[in-house]
Amino acid sequence: MLPQFIDTLIEIKQLPRIEKFQILAQIEGVYIPSLYTPIYSSDGQLVAIKTIGSDIPTSITKQTWKGNTLSHSTVITPDAVWPNIHMVEVVRSCPELCRFCLASYLTLPFRSPSLQEGLIPAVEKGLTVTKRLGLLGASVTQHPEFLDLLNWLNHDRFEDLHLSVSSVRASTVSSIMAKMLARRGCKSLTIAIESGSEKIRNLVNKKLSEEEIINSAQYAKEAGLIGLKLYGMVGLPKEDLSDINQTADLLLRLKKRTSGLRITLGVSTFVPKAHTPFQWNGVCPESKKHLKLLAKKLKPNGIQVRPESYGWSIIQTLLSRSDRRVAPVIALVRGSQNSLGSWKKAYKAIQEADISNHANPLLSLPKPPHWEEVIHQNWDTSRVLPWEHLHGPLKKESLIKHHKDSLNQATEDTQKN
Ligand code: SF4
Repeated sequence: MLPQFIDTLIEIKQLPRIEKFQILAQIEGVYIPSLYTPIYSSDGQLVAIKTIGSDIPTSITKQTWKGNTLSHSTVITPDAVWPNIHMVEVVRSCPELCRFCLASYLTLPFRSPSLQEGLIPAVEKGLTVTKRLGLLGASVTQHPEFLDLLNWLNHDRFEDLHLSVSSVRASTVSSIMAKMLARRGCKSLTIAIESGSEKIRNLVNKKLSEEEIINSAQYAKEAGLIGLKLYGMVGLPKEDLSDINQTADLLLRLKKRTSGLRITLGVSTFVPKAHTPFQWNGVCPESKKHLKLLAKKLKPNGIQVRPESYGWSIIQTLLSRSDRRVAPVIALVRGSQNSLGSWKKAYKAIQEADISNHANPLLSLPKPPHWEEVIHQNWDTSRVLPWEHLHGPLKKESLIKHHKDSLNQATEDTQKN
C-alpha cells in the first residue's frame, strides 16, 4: 500500500488538510479516524459507525504483502534492544489459529519466503557485519524449509555464528533440529503450551499433546541445551482451578523427566484482542489468584516462574476493548504512576465528570461503559464492536464460528470429565 500512498501524498501536497484526507481515504487500507463517527444509543451503547461525507468508504480492508520476502534488520548496532543481532523474519502469521492469537489471525495468510530467493539473501546481508543471527516469526519452525535453513547454517563458514530463535511449536521440534540449534550456539528452547489442561488447549485450538511437550523437552536436554522456557496463560475462557492445577502438575512431571534442564514458565494473563475469535471474551476475574497459585506450586520445586504483570494485562484489555471514549482517560492518566490503580482512578473520574457539550469533541462523547463490562464481561456476538468498520483477513462470520466452536468444545470436554 505504501508506494500508492506516498505517490498520492506527493501529488496532493498543496491541497488543504481535509481535502487530502478525503483523497487518501480512497486508497484501500487507509483509515482516517476523523472521517468516521460513532453513533451511540441513549444508554451509551455503540450502535453504528458512520462515515462523515458520502464518498468515504464505509469500511477499511487491511492490505497484505504477498511478495517472496519478509523483513530483516537494516541497522545493526550495539545500542539496540538486542545488541548486534541481525534479525530475519522467517514466517509471517501462523496457520494454527489459536483462538486468542492476534499474530496469527490479523496477519493471515501464513507466509513463508522461499529459502533460496527469500531467506538466504536476507541472512547473508546481515552476516557480513555481525555473527549474531536471530530468526523471528510467530512460529518459525513451521517454515516448510526450516530444517534446510539450519542445514545451510551448518556449513563450516558459519562456525562462529551465534543463533537464536523465537518461540517454536512443540510438535515441530525434532532431535535433529534441537542438535542443530545447539551446535549454532542456542542455549535454550522456548515453546508455548498455554496450559497443562487438555480442555483449555482444545478450547484455544492448540492441537498439542502432552507427549509432544515432553518429547520436545527431552530432545532439548539430549541436544545439550541448558534451558527450556514454556509460555503459559491464565484467565482464558472457561478456566477453573483444576486447569491451573493440571498446568502445575505437567510442569512438575516435566521437571522430573528432564532433570538437569532449567525449566522456566513465563505466564501471562489472557488479553482479548480485536479480530480474534476471543475478542468477545472478557478476562476471567480469578486470573490474579491463578497466577499466584502457579507460582506457589512451582517455585519451591525448582521451576522459575516469570509472571507478566496482572495490572498491565488489565490495562492492555482496557485499551484493546474500548472505543474512542477511552481517549480522555489516557489523557488524564498521563503523568501519573502508570499503575492499574491510576488507570482505574482516571476511568472513574471521566465516568463521573460532567462533560456533556464539552468544546472538545472527544470529551462530548457519552460516558464510557462500566469498567466490568469492558474488562471482564463476555460480549454477545451481535454487539457492534468499536472496530466494526475495520476488516481483517477473516470475515466476522468466520470469527463467530471459531468462537462458538471453541466454547462448545470446552463444554463437551467438561461433560466427558
Ligand atoms: S501456535 Fe503460537 S503463533 Fe501460532 S496461532 Fe498458536 S499461539 Fe499463535
